[in-house]
Amino acid sequence: MTARTDVILPGATLGVMGGGQLGRMFVHAAQAMGYRTAVLDADASSPAGLVSHEHIRAGYLDETGLAELARVSAAITTEFENVPAQALDKLAESRPVAPAGRAVAICQDRAREKAHFVACGVDCAPYAMIDTPEQLAAVSDDLLPGILKTTRLGYDGKGQVRVQTRAELVAGWDELQRVGCVLEKMLPLAYEVSVLVARGRDGQVVHFPLQENLHRDGILAVTTVPAPHVTEAVSQQAYAAAHQIAASMDYVGVLCIEFFVLQDGRIVANEMAPRPHNSGHHTIDACDVSQFELQVRAMTGLPLVAPVLHSPCLMLNLLGDLWFPGGASEQVEPDWAAVLALSGTHLHLYGKTEARKARKMGHLTVTGTTPQAARATALQVAAILGIAPF
Ligand code: ATP
Ligand code: MG
Repeated sequence: MTARTDVILPGATLGVMGGGQLGRMFVHAAQAMGYRTAVLDADASSPAGLVSHEHIRAGYLDETGLAELARVSAAITTEFENVPAQALDKLAESRPVAPAGRAVAICQDRAREKAHFVACGVDCAPYAMIDTPEQLAAVSDDLLPGILKTTRLGYDGKGQVRVQTRAELVAGWDELQRVGCVLEKMLPLAYEVSVLVARGRDGQVVHFPLQENLHRDGILAVTTVPAPHVTEAVSQQAYAAAHQIAASMDYVGVLCIEFFVLQDGRIVANEMAPRPHNSGHHTIDACDVSQFELQVRAMTGLPLVAPVLHSPCLMLNLLGDLWFPGGASEQVEPDWAAVLALSGTHLHLYGKTEARKARKMGHLTVTGTTPQAARATALQVAAILGIAPF
């Protein structure tokens, strides 16, 4: 049997736009499979740059940097949602790029993202676009209380203001520098879930079992799989929506879609990310194939397989706050030895030396033989590290 010629095989170099923790875990997965890696990121000590074979220190629109990435890479992906789509389009002139610039462009813009959900027959929260003072004045009272979100460049709850009244809405838009925003109606959430899918060049789509996510201050805090509150009806709807959303963009790569499950049982799509996602980090330790391995497989044309969750688990995000116990003024390393003494704990730190409040420093996955056992251990971990119980 001869090797398939359309597949990029191990030994080749895979390029990634962005050097954050998602890029770092992509590099780990690619290298484990025998690929070489190249990271493009301006930061000399970026988490992915530190572990990659090659690190091209350049901005996302730097022509020389992009040309170098294209020269050394057999295929290119992205780990950062806000990479300019035109940079991906430029790379795509000479190399396979997955996901494509046009799909990333939809995910970068809340208005286009919502229009895409609606076109796929998937509900999202009632909303209005606010680009002008006239649009602000014309907002329906039905959208209040609501959340004003910048149309572009928001993450981890940044670029968002919660508004109860029209006066707060006006002040909130000023606070956001009057950039283009969407005002979303505040919905009564029962819980939140996300679905990760991977789609290949041949159109095959596979998904991970969906995960339930707890956010604190707009930042993901805890992911639990299997999702404790989810019903069969909700999960089937979420999977069908995710497959449809990916297929209708002709998406290639890993895509995450966040959903709200409302108190009346309806599901609405919140937002999507054109890359592996923080809510999928448990897949490294709790699934037979991780989200990062599927990113490698999708971009190289290797087969996708439906991933299996082999262990119930919880993933805890490790934010920089944990390095300052009791409001300490100096950074103190958390007691990893105490945590790792508990069986089923898997520590992932991203190589960031400076801890800052709300900065994602790492994550910790706890696997167990049962969901109850995993949860009990995760609560012990939380108590040791100073994470509030969940
Ligand atoms: P991410 O880090 O996921 O990119 P983000 O900054 O883009 O986050 P969103 O996902 O839009 O922000 O919102 C963050 C969280 O705020 C949600 O997970 C949810 O808990 C809450 N939230 C956002 N929009 C609404 C809404 N319309 N109704 C109720 N809660 C909401
Ligand atoms: Mg979100």
